[in-house]
Amino acid sequence: MARAAASLPSLALSRGSLDRHGELRGDPGLLASLLDDPTTRVLELVDGRTAVTEEDGGRVRLGYRSPVPEDRDRFTAYLGHAPTGGAAYVLSVAHDGSATGGTSAPGGDAPQRQGLRGVGARLDDLDAGVLTTATGLANWHGRHGFCPLCGSPTTPAQSGWIRVCPADGSEHYPRTDPAVIMSVVDENDRLLLARGVGFAAQGMSVLAGFVEPGESLSAAVAREVHEEVGVRVTDVTYLGDQPWPFPSSLMIGFTARAVSTELVLQQDEIEEARWFEREELARAVADGSLRISGRISIARRLIEHWYGEELDAPEASLRA
Ligand SMILES: [Zn+2]
Repeated sequence: MARAAASLPSLALSRGSLDRHGELRGDPGLLASLLDDPTTRVLELVDGRTAVTEEDGGRVRLGYRSPVPEDRDRFTAYLGHAPTGGAAYVLSVAHDGSATGGTSAPGGDAPQRQGLRGVGARLDDLDAGVLTTATGLANWHGRHGFCPLCGSPTTPAQSGWIRVCPADGSEHYPRTDPAVIMSVVDENDRLLLARGVGFAAQGMSVLAGFVEPGESLSAAVAREVHEEVGVRVTDVTYLGDQPWPFPSSLMIGFTARAVSTELVLQQDEIEEARWFEREELARAVADGSLRISGRISIARRLIEHWYGEELDAPEASLRA
């Protein structure tokens, strides 16, 4: 069994290599000039999905296109440039019915569209960063069209990176909601997994929850574990983090040591929780009696970090 590494490897959505060039965003003519340039690579999102091409070996490529006149009437944002002076990337948000396409699926006319959740783990580093950033930005704009101070409709500025209220001049920046997610391990090196309400029958995962106002990350870990399963923890240790723009989270991964093992489940939140030994977990995953999160998730990486190596579990949604 491999020794546990100090941090989580292979976090699918933390690999982005896009160079964001934040210093360019303030140029009010930037988007117009990029949309005039046929070498600009436009990522068109339609309800969170974009054109993709599946390749041999399971890899997926995003189906960028050149700018089209319709982009000028849509929400667009400058995402950045490929590293070392490569192409510029622009997000264009369309709604179903006004989509202008992209790469066609093999043998078909209509492009195949997929969202980040479906393809994020199968993209290369550049495409993973582009789609993760585009998804988070589009989600924020789609949900924050009105000023939180006065209720007026706001307008995008800074090449799509802020919204401004024309009534009072206030500026609003994209939000990211921190959430903690943690492997809890007892003194016998057993891992705690739980099934939340709404999970599929065989689905279990590590615990997670949002950080509350006025709370540190380690305090949020201790509070969530105690609230959900009644266990006290100590030695809260950071292992890694990744953006999770569904719609706007940043998942911050920890491991913590349990100082008690009796489980008292939170009603209406947790349906089942139990401690697993390694052999027991491997057997349950292999015979299908336990389903764990897919490779795109930090939950999967936390379980594998405890286990000591990658688990050969089928890609399955935990949600019923
Ligand atoms: Zn306002």
